Amino acid sequence: MSDKKQVMVFIEHSEKKIANVSLELICEAGQLAEKLDADVVAVAPGYDMKEELASLGHYGCKTVYYINDKRLAHFTSNPYAKSIINLIKTQQPEIVLFGATETGRDVAPRIASALKCGLTADCTELQIGEHKVKSQIYENVFLGIRPAFGGNIMATIVTPESHPSMATVRPGVMKMNPPDTSLKADVSEVESGLSDEDFITEVIEVVRREKTVNLGAAQLIVAAGAGAADPNTLGLVRKLANTIGAELGASRPLVDSGLLGHDHQVGQTGTTVRPNLYIACGISGQIQHRAGMAESQRIIAINSDPDAPIFNIAHYGIVGNLNEVIPKMINAYKDKA
Ligand SMILES: Cc1cc2nc3c(=O)[nH]c(=O)nc-3n(C[C@H](O)[C@H](O)[C@H](O)COP(=O)(O)OP(=O)(O)OC[C@H]3O[C@@H](n4cnc5c(N)ncnc54)[C@H](O)[C@@H]3O)c2cc1C
Repeated sequence: MSDKKQVMVFIEHSEKKIANVSLELICEAGQLAEKLDADVVAVAPGYDMKEELASLGHYGCKTVYYINDKRLAHFTSNPYAKSIINLIKTQQPEIVLFGATETGRDVAPRIASALKCGLTADCTELQIGEHKVKSQIYENVFLGIRPAFGGNIMATIVTPESHPSMATVRPGVMKMNPPDTSLKADVSEVESGLSDEDFITEVIEVVRREKTVNLGAAQLIVAAGAGAADPNTLGLVRKLANTIGAELGASRPLVDSGLLGHDHQVGQTGTTVRPNLYIACGISGQIQHRAGMAESQRIIAINSDPDAPIFNIAHYGIVGNLNEVIPKMINAYKDKA
């Protein structure tokens, strides 16, 4: 166990590529670690990844606890959970962060229940602060902040009596700092402590589902809302996206109605995006949608209702009918191009 406090991040990877959400969390862990005078460390079950893991230093990670075991080359729930539990018991970190991905959502609750500690899911903000219960004051407590009750309130969840505090955070929510390639993390190999009996499933083949859209990495997004549900209007929104080379996003009603796949959905239960430009077409701007796009650098909103809440966060607002506005935008763009 280290003499210094530690804020730990679980490193997710696929085909030896570290997931962006893990890099985002390393950067966010840096802010928390500063307040706690702690080190940012990582836990990475895997195989043959030493070099890739050292690059976590570019983002501020000091030490990577690398559980190097051929049987951990691909994610399987129980062996990953058990090897991380063993490490947490040895290292006693203050906080452990996971991506709110399929992998993180699978492994984090298993660890939390084995260690009998609190886990706050889908946080949108993480802080270190004070917590008071009657006359009891807890200093430097981990605060997991997330939308609750359908996104109508922001709840701050604390687990001051259990150790460590754990949270999951969705991809794209935390900001990734530019890498400092002069820095490398110390990669410390640790035993998995696993026996063959811990491996009740075996990964025989990994079959990749190709995504039709990659909103998380997109710098330009044109998103269609319920106001574009008519096939002609949706066709116009799609045309605008194609014309300017943007990815096509959507609000939930378009996905629920089957007009677009879930990969297109932006928001609390979809993807969180931070593009340079987000054009919201016929989207009212409910909190659950805003939760996924409010951090966009520039937002243009087109809506026929001048009081639509989306205009409160838009940098440029166009009050009008999509069927009239979008063709003009396409023509204007083509004239300038
Ligand atoms: C737990 C939970 C999770 C959720 N997660 C998400 C999520 O991840 N993402 C998400 O998007 N939603 C989510 N929702 C749903 C959310 O609450 C809203 O219902 C949804 O965002 C509304 O989508 P919208 O703005 O497209 O539709 P509406 O609210 O119906 O707005 C349509 C807008 O289009 C405008 N309009 C109509 N016709 C035209 C036209 N011809 N030209 C111009 N403007 C026009 C209208 O003025 C209106 O403002 C969630 C809800 C819950 C309870």
